[in-house]
Amino acid sequence: MMNVGIDVGGTFTDIVSMENGEFTHIQTLRTSKFLRRPELVEEYSDAVFAIAGWIRGGEILRTPNIPGFRRELFKGKMIENDANCFAVYAHYVTGFSNVFAVTLGTGVGAGIIANSRLYRGSGLASEIGHAFVGGNERCVCGGIGHLETFFSGWAIKKKFGREVSRKEILGFDGFRVLCTEVAKAVMVLDPEAVVFGGRISSILEPEDFRLIYDFLHPEFRPEIRVIKDPLAVAKGAAILAGGGHGHC
Ligand SMILES: [Zn+2]
Repeated sequence: MMNVGIDVGGTFTDIVSMENGEFTHIQTLRTSKFLRRPELVEEYSDAVFAIAGWIRGGEILRTPNIPGFRRELFKGKMIENDANCFAVYAHYVTGFSNVFAVTLGTGVGAGIIANSRLYRGSGLASEIGHAFVGGNERCVCGGIGHLETFFSGWAIKKKFGREVSRKEILGFDGFRVLCTEVAKAVMVLDPEAVVFGGRISSILEPEDFRLIYDFLHPEFRPEIRVIKDPLAVAKGAAILAGGGHGHC
């Protein structure tokens, strides 16, 4: 049976299928174009759609990082938070039973795998990007002082006005703030691994994130992995479409 996962991202939409454990990249197109083609959503009506947004009880509450998002297109469809899909894929490829997965892209998302199952809480579990950290900078979600105002693709773009190098990210104050917030999540979850993904992580290495250990007792040393696969979210959605990790 073929299962399809579709990652509706801030800029691009990736469509991936999974059949007998093999992934196939079907198509990547601009999200603005995808959202103008409702027939594509219908064509893949059995797919799981990974959405960079807040989803509770099958309802899309917020999508601050997808310009021009049209939630009505996804009524009655299987939808899942994009970082949750990444967490499912991170669990699939690493094999760890307890994973804290973090996506660093336009925004900062996270997903939790607890005892090999996706943990959603009452829907919005692990929304660390919009946790209050400090300061009075306005976040894209409308809040103040959230983690994303310190570290996120949009915050970096605002500060530098361009793409940044690995060295610049590591020297950036916001990176330290990100690592302290991830360390707090590690204290809560005690995962076996922290797995990073997303466009910004693709230029970083696992050792770059060892800064997290500076904020933790030595008893907390989760493995740190980086997944540099631009289709990881879509693949996680395809796994979910196959019935892994329960309902959507
Ligand atoms: Zn926010």
